[in-house]
Amino acid sequence: MDLHDNFVIAIDGPAGSGKSTVAKMVAARLGALYLDSGALYRAVTLLVLRHKLAPGRDTDPIVELLKSSTIELNNSDKGTFIFLDGEDVTSEIRSQEVTALVSEVSENLAIREVVTGRLHDLAQFRSVVMDGRDIGTVVFPAADLKIFLTASLAERARRRHLELQQCGTVIEFTALQEEISRRDKYDSERKVAPLKRAEDAILLDTSNLNSIQVSDRIVDIFAKLSMDLTTN
Ligand code: C5P
Repeated sequence: MDLHDNFVIAIDGPAGSGKSTVAKMVAARLGALYLDSGALYRAVTLLVLRHKLAPGRDTDPIVELLKSSTIELNNSDKGTFIFLDGEDVTSEIRSQEVTALVSEVSENLAIREVVTGRLHDLAQFRSVVMDGRDIGTVVFPAADLKIFLTASLAERARRRHLELQQCGTVIEFTALQEEISRRDKYDSERKVAPLKRAEDAILLDTSNLNSIQVSDRIVDIFAKLSMDLTTN
């Protein structure tokens, strides 16, 4: 990577590992665009639900629908907003209904190919920090920096619980912990682009770190990497 080139930072990890908060902070600090790949899979899931399609059976209609739909991610001071065919679906894609089905939708290869293409388009000609499950392994295997975030299941569930509470969603803690664990298992065991650490990804356990500490570490690692490349 040349310092003047656009760069890609890939941040992967299981649900609730703090990826989106940290990726947003890192992007803001480095002047890059933040892209939440999970939001795209959630928007596709919303399309599937609205059209009463079945992810395992209706691949062709889902792909057709997806190709004729627009999904936009807009970052502003107030947060990241997701638009599906011009409609703000930011809250709806975080609903329990979408969360319960998203892993099934995203294990479909044909759907993943379309979403990965969209992610490449969104990241073109700019520096990006993208978070997800397969960014360092499949979407950007040559990313300039790859981070894999983890945290204990209890801590991840605690964070998600708090996040949901702040948005006014009431969910029982044990049920949430089970839901996270089920989704991680599904995402890790699927055949296509499973959730896994890329061999060259740096592992950061965030169980005892807050998001500022984690983003500090990533920015430091990136600065060192850029420096090494300039001096070598
Ligand atoms: O990041 P978030 O929890 O919103 O992602 C929702 C779901 O989208 C994940 O559980 C996973 O099934 C899917 N996903 C994926 N690949 C990505 C990002 C998300 O399969 N790169």
